[in-house]
Amino acid sequence: MNRRVEIHINKDKLESELSELAAFSDAEPPAVTRIVFTATDLKARAWIKTRCEDSGLAVRQDAIGNIFARWTGVEPSAPTVGTGSHIDAIPNAGRYDGVVGVLGGLEAIRALQEAGFRPRHSIELLIFTSEEPTRFGIGCLGSRLLSGTLTAEAARKLTDKDGTTLEEVRRKAGLDGELEQVKLPPGYYKAFVELHIEQGPILEREQVSLGIVERIAAPASLRVTVEGAGGHAGGVLMPDRRDALCAAAELILAIEQAAQRSGAIDTVATVGICDVFPSAVNSIPAKVSLSVDIRDTSLPRRDAVIRALEGACRAASAKRQVEIQCELLNADAPAEAAPAVVAALRQACEMHDFDFMPMTSRAYHDSLFVSRIATMAMLFIPCRQGYSHRPDEYASSTDIARGALVLAEALAMLAE
Ligand SMILES: [Zn+2]
Repeated sequence: MNRRVEIHINKDKLESELSELAAFSDAEPPAVTRIVFTATDLKARAWIKTRCEDSGLAVRQDAIGNIFARWTGVEPSAPTVGTGSHIDAIPNAGRYDGVVGVLGGLEAIRALQEAGFRPRHSIELLIFTSEEPTRFGIGCLGSRLLSGTLTAEAARKLTDKDGTTLEEVRRKAGLDGELEQVKLPPGYYKAFVELHIEQGPILEREQVSLGIVERIAAPASLRVTVEGAGGHAGGVLMPDRRDALCAAAELILAIEQAAQRSGAIDTVATVGICDVFPSAVNSIPAKVSLSVDIRDTSLPRRDAVIRALEGACRAASAKRQVEIQCELLNADAPAEAAPAVVAALRQACEMHDFDFMPMTSRAYHDSLFVSRIATMAMLFIPCRQGYSHRPDEYASSTDIARGALVLAEALAMLAE
């Protein structure tokens, strides 16, 4: 190591920056609402860019608004070591989701600078555009585009609820350039680490300081449409019925059973929406639409549930004489963390005698998409009662500083 000075995280500075960023909000404190490319979000972006420039980082922005703040290494052309997260927030959210990884990442870089560390690989802080799906209905917009998971052509078709296209919105936000240019060249990254609050209760419950994420679960979403025959609830006799809701009920239970049968705790399946037409008390349901969400950390296991659902659709269709369509809307693959990045995080924890545990992220993050183009791992810190996406989301400054310190150590190991 070319670094012998101890790394010091400025906990007070980090805490005050968290408060400052939380003030860029369209909700009453303590709630934070920061929807991508609103006036408030643009102000927050300008603020964070200035913060990065003040720390001597070279800031650039791509066509979708991903912000890259670069600390150029001794070998500028060597692959980059990345860290970062997002600063957009869903309506009525808290101040820590995403932000901890951005401001914690910035503080980690500053701490390394102050410790006299000179990275061989450039270290870059990344602030991803629109991790939350609030505005355009799709999460991780920035990381999907830069990893090539979403094409520029598909992105151009996205609109917000007012019908304004992503193209219009981003150009109004001053983002010129073509979306085709967002995809990073192969070999851009050496490694990527994202610091994040857990958004679940496990670390707090187990009283463990840090979680090293070894895999990220990914959702598949499907829409199942069942078409039967309607009719008068009194007039149509039972042998003559083709009740769409009864068929849908069989499917809902089949989905539950398929997830239970997988035998893995990480397999989960949910029917969150059931729309019944015509939805009248004295009318036989003629048409039902189900929204299905299936998640797992293993792609074969998750796909087995999808196949079980498709089988159940065929069976119910034959048995009940109804038409069933099963449409796969989205199926992101889960991700495994890279052993080398996990090892760097473990070693960083051990250097400071911090206790840690391996974890699975059941929520998805930008790192899921970064994993398509880079070796990655995530570092979780506890958050009170696992609360997230609500105003009382809370992580202590001690936990945040500890996360930033481990991140700094890991970045140093990966970048030297
Ligand atoms: Zn987040």
